[in-house]
Amino acid sequence: MALDPLSSFLRVREGRIVAVGAAAQATDPRVPRVELPGRVIVPGLIDAHVHLELDPELKTPAEQLRVSEQDRVGAMAGRAEAMLAAGITTARDCGGGAHREHRLRDAILARDQRGPRLLCCGQPLTTPGGHCSFWGGEVETRVDIDHMVDLQIEAGSDWIKVMATGGVFTPGSRARDAQFDLPRLLSIVESARRADRAVAAHCHGTEGIANAVRAGVRTIEHSSFAGPNGFGTALDDSLMSEMAAAELWVSPTVNAGWGRRIEDAKGEPTDFFRRLSTALGAQREHGIRFIASTDAGIPGVFHHDLVAGLLAFERFAGLRPVDVLRSATSEAAEALGIASETGRIEKGLSADFLVLEGDPLEDLGVLGDPEFVVFRGEWFDRASRRDVLAASASA
Ligand SMILES: [Zn+2]
Repeated sequence: MALDPLSSFLRVREGRIVAVGAAAQATDPRVPRVELPGRVIVPGLIDAHVHLELDPELKTPAEQLRVSEQDRVGAMAGRAEAMLAAGITTARDCGGGAHREHRLRDAILARDQRGPRLLCCGQPLTTPGGHCSFWGGEVETRVDIDHMVDLQIEAGSDWIKVMATGGVFTPGSRARDAQFDLPRLLSIVESARRADRAVAAHCHGTEGIANAVRAGVRTIEHSSFAGPNGFGTALDDSLMSEMAAAELWVSPTVNAGWGRRIEDAKGEPTDFFRRLSTALGAQREHGIRFIASTDAGIPGVFHHDLVAGLLAFERFAGLRPVDVLRSATSEAAEALGIASETGRIEKGLSADFLVLEGDPLEDLGVLGDPEFVVFRGEWFDRASRRDVLAASASA
């Protein structure tokens, strides 16, 4: 991922990488140069699953819904700024209730607001009273489905999100239960496809994963193989083989919260770690492609904290640092359909990269403190990052 020292020239013009390697060497003395001896450059990081609208300090949907419009919009802008400062140059927002994140995306695009490039799902489709139904995406019939997908497209959504199973966050919902049968999921994927949108499916229980895979969704969120005895207790080898053969990615939302649950007070692996590392390890063994994601916004998971999630991901899924880095850069860009825009250090792509003082292939932790974050050719240094993070912590 790091540039070969013999070809470590990079030329950027108007926010894009225009040359890499020997061809990027400037002969014109008027071209400004930045010399960074001994540094490592990696592509800007991508978090494939966040919720900008959610405040990680609040514990329940009821508390989230009580936040005033003005406070919420202000907080969302602060979160976006903190994400960029932390090296996240792209994120997919996997759901909110009022398309506020779409307006934030557009303001960032217009450079009126600092933050990562955003892809937005809008209101997740769910069953009446189902997981995250408080966001307004309830559907039952084929007609409802077409209408709800249309609403998301009209609001400018880049993706369609569906809650294929219940979830943890919604009172009365059970994570292991499938919410939609296969025909309904097929309708959702078809309706999205007509508008040229891919589908992200929230899936905990194994039956819901199977339905989503067979319906042709592009990303399986969580993929926790939950059964009656909890997450990671209903593994299914033949389904995993199907997943590996399908055109899809698993976005397991391994985050900072998971990192705190690896060992118990005695230093022994927790039951949670044992179950989830077995589930993710089995998916890795089957050759299923992973993308990094955090579910930022849920209680205790802060939007700028992707790197803590990557360190946990390395442990839970038994990945090499290079695989984790790919899952948060090139693989994520491919899964999200933006590989011609970002995810690599390559001629023609947006100039989105991090300048590091250490080698992340030896220690992923160095991603947590980049010397510079460069997004669309704009440079942010460490001092400005610390200011942004301090401001977001005190907000
Ligand atoms: Zn989520």
